[in-house]
Amino acid sequence: MEYEKEGHGLRIYKEDTPQYYLYRDMHRNQTLEYVIKKKQQYSELNNCKMSVKKALSMMDEFIDPSDPDLDVENSIHAYQTAERIRKKYPNDKEFQIIGLIHDLGKVLFSFNEPNWAVVGDTYVLGCRFPESIVYYNTLKENSDFEKYKEKSIYEKGCGLDNLNISFGHDEYLYQVLTQNKNHKITERGKSIIRYHSFYPWHTGGDYKEYMNYSDEKKLIYVLDFNQFDLYSKEDDTEISDTIKEYYSKLLDEYFPEELQW
Ligand code: FE
Ligand code: FE
Repeated sequence: MEYEKEGHGLRIYKEDTPQYYLYRDMHRNQTLEYVIKKKQQYSELNNCKMSVKKALSMMDEFIDPSDPDLDVENSIHAYQTAERIRKKYPNDKEFQIIGLIHDLGKVLFSFNEPNWAVVGDTYVLGCRFPESIVYYNTLKENSDFEKYKEKSIYEKGCGLDNLNISFGHDEYLYQVLTQNKNHKITERGKSIIRYHSFYPWHTGGDYKEYMNYSDEKKLIYVLDFNQFDLYSKEDDTEISDTIKEYYSKLLDEYFPEELQW
């Protein structure tokens, strides 16, 4: 099987690759029951208190196994995403900061979560799996595959926020930003973070029947963001001390205090 995502030349998915095993394990293990349990567990935010800067520095140690660019640490991806946004939107500081922090939910790895519960494209549990999901065939090993093939637990137009989406860094950082009130990130930023890995929806065009009026806006935000969330090999921007200093000031402005994680 070979799968190439539109607009993502580097995202070519083949069998017997690290990406294949990551998605196979995700698809075996992320069931509706699992997702509900994980969302409950992490919504308590009882892991630690730390600054966003500290979380960003932890990305120096994390290499995303779903990223075909296996040798680049995630902190570089954070700065490069932010810089690409800054080039196009020099005055939209919030958008730049979203670029910088969008993947910080990956600190889940430090709480000993397996990679398949941290990274990768997301999908909905409790309804039929659309074929736009990467490595769709491995979903046949999910115990929910037959259960929700014909029936969905969701109503049409229920809204994306009411879906149970596979658990990972998107949902976790969304919870952190929703429950901590001592920062300046708006609803736009939180939506981008919550749905940026939801490829079957924003790029595959599936799950549209569950959208409500306010989700149309989310789709526009996420698609606008997605063009900057690329893979590092396509970008050789040097992350200089001047650039780091710029974002350090922005972080002080948007996150004056530590957050509960
Ligand atoms: Fe991400
Ligand atoms: Fe990213």
